[in-house]
Amino acid sequence: HVRVRFCPSPTGTPHVGMVRTALFNWAEARHTHGVFVFRIEDTDAQRDSEESYNQILEALRWLHLDWDEGIEVGGPNGPYRQSERTEIYRDVARRLLEAGYAYESYSTPDEIEARNVAAGRPKAFGYDGFDRNLTQEQKDAFRAQGRRPALRIRMPEEDVAFDDLIRGHIDFKAGSVPDYVIVRPNGDALYTLTNPVDDAMMGINVVLRGEDLLSSTPRQIVLYRYLMELGIAREMPLFGHMPYVMGAGKKKLSKRDPESNLFLHRENGFIPEGLLNYLALLGWSIGPDRDVFSMREMVESFDVRDVKANPAHFDIDKAVSINAEHVRMLEPQDFLNRSVPYLRRDGVVSADSWDALTDRERAVLTAAAPLVQPRVRLLGEVSAMVASLLSRDGYIEPDDDARKQLKGSSEDVLDRAVAALEGVDEGAWTAENLHETLNAALLEGMGYKPRQAFGPVRVALSGRRVSPPLFESMEIVGKDVTVARLRGLRE
Ligand code: GLU
Repeated sequence: HVRVRFCPSPTGTPHVGMVRTALFNWAEARHTHGVFVFRIEDTDAQRDSEESYNQILEALRWLHLDWDEGIEVGGPNGPYRQSERTEIYRDVARRLLEAGYAYESYSTPDEIEARNVAAGRPKAFGYDGFDRNLTQEQKDAFRAQGRRPALRIRMPEEDVAFDDLIRGHIDFKAGSVPDYVIVRPNGDALYTLTNPVDDAMMGINVVLRGEDLLSSTPRQIVLYRYLMELGIAREMPLFGHMPYVMGAGKKKLSKRDPESNLFLHRENGFIPEGLLNYLALLGWSIGPDRDVFSMREMVESFDVRDVKANPAHFDIDKAVSINAEHVRMLEPQDFLNRSVPYLRRDGVVSADSWDALTDRERAVLTAAAPLVQPRVRLLGEVSAMVASLLSRDGYIEPDDDARKQLKGSSEDVLDRAVAALEGVDEGAWTAENLHETLNAALLEGMGYKPRQAFGPVRVALSGRRVSPPLFESMEIVGKDVTVARLRGLRE
């Protein structure tokens, strides 16, 4: 059965490309009832951080991309952090060396470059195979100079070809990939060794990752063959390389791009369902003319062979509109529960969970949910929508956009609205009655157009140009506060 893995290096804050990789691997595992392994490739002490590790973990948990084996949950092939597997790599490297699949290389980068220049090869030609057949005497002489060897893998003198699950047949010509370092002179094992060794020992049979790693695949295939000879690997995995994610201006989306920062999207109010749905479209499609689907539906139809090879474009507007669809589909109470942390962040309520809100806050929000939920695209937009509904203030300062709505006629409109609304009984303070009352007083009575009449009332009530439906909002806010706000703006 299928065993896939997600194996990020903890070097920074989670980004959308990383999440897309996790998502496609997860979907492949769930679709095939296979196993999703989550490993951490922290072999670079200079760049790796515990903070990044924790953020990646938090990201997967937030997105509900659950894993079957790996960090935190354990499993039969652990440990799942490469920093805890040093002994394993040392042992494998020794066996590769003993079998002659790897060899000691004493050349320094400067020496390699100098030899390339002297031989008329391009400077960036790479390693020339100089140390392939050193004699014991030569090695001893280097050691006597105080040198320590790197270990290099011996590449075969033949093409390395494979069938990419996404890109089809790929052929790397003989001689195009130099012998490469797997262990540094100081003994550090590199990604080139640790990644295939772990894939082998963890039984990974489908490697799904970004296109940027395509150039490492011929090396890994060769190493894998050696690992199979040594009985460390059982079968050659299948490889699939997912397309680049492009940002604005036909450039690759960079990790430093704000649009690629996962937690920024969360702060703005993406919900996991919406964000994952959008990320799924970066290279994959559930069917023609269909953009919105659940993760359950994705799992049902996902097949890595359907992933397209051409670059995908990250389109934040489309992402936001897909998120809006998912926000709309939430159960109203779920929508409210998830909104509370945003309301608290924005200072609209002071508790961080639904149960900790006051009775009045809960009542207002419950009444507001059907008005607000269809009108927000991101949960970060809820605060502005409900702030004036939760507030008991008798005056709301209009924002600049709202102020522009006020015309010469606004004073008259507000005076007449106040007079009419004062005549409505508290017991009859319903959206329907309020609509009728203001229609009679302003439209029929005075000949105002709806926009002329209700624009200023909306501004007085909410301080904004766009708000939840006006009469429902007035009902929620109540008579006293509504009348006070209309008066307040008039003065
Ligand atoms: N640790 C590697 C990275 O984050 C994983 C590459 C792979 O999937 O093979 O780029």
